[in-house]
Amino acid sequence: LFITIEGGEGVGKSTNIDFIAQRLEQQGIDFILTREPGGTPLAEDIRQLLLNPREEAVAENTELLLMFAARAQHIAEVIEPALAAGKWVVCDRFTDATFAYQGGGRGIPMTKIADLEQWVQGDLRPDFTLLLDASVEVGMSRASKRGALDRFEQEKKDFFESVRTAYLNMATLNPDRYRVVDASKTLEQVQQSLTQVIDEMIAQ
Ligand code: C5P
Repeated sequence: LFITIEGGEGVGKSTNIDFIAQRLEQQGIDFILTREPGGTPLAEDIRQLLLNPREEAVAENTELLLMFAARAQHIAEVIEPALAAGKWVVCDRFTDATFAYQGGGRGIPMTKIADLEQWVQGDLRPDFTLLLDASVEVGMSRASKRGALDRFEQEKKDFFESVRTAYLNMATLNPDRYRVVDASKTLEQVQQSLTQVIDEMIAQ
């Protein structure tokens, strides 16, 4: 199975991904854990360019194409070989993050992103997408407790509202693929929901 984990800033993605990995291990699933943008040396270099660029504004299309350039490398080097070997792939963000951030946040037309998705990925789509969802207020107040902010984390509230709306729209449009977990609850409650969702995937 190909499983992606999505969510806005401060929804607890890192902590919860660790928890998901633990659960899969306990259940004896052969899986790899990877992330976007990144996941290979070349794609991690692209991540650095995206998150901490030089003293030059990054044009929207540059940002979009770098995301897909990193993704193309990640798919070829990591995701497809793992899936072909029968492993599960758990990916911290994937193309839905591009629809949410570059589409919802930056306002790049979704159809343009969908064209690139088709071109770069062919038929490759996640089997399940787990969306950790919390209000922007909750997310931003949690995220602000972290140290230095990257280029995206410095965006304004409106940007994150658009990102969240885009994610929730995708969840509504793809109910078979999406599992939405309310990340504003306590960590214990969130992890209880995650356990349920993961066990359901394993039982598939
Ligand atoms: O998930 P993580 O916090 O590691 O992502 C790094 C940064 O890249 C985040 O601030 C996220 O908002 C941003 N990002 C983005 N567009 C994507 C993927 C990630 O703006 N398609």
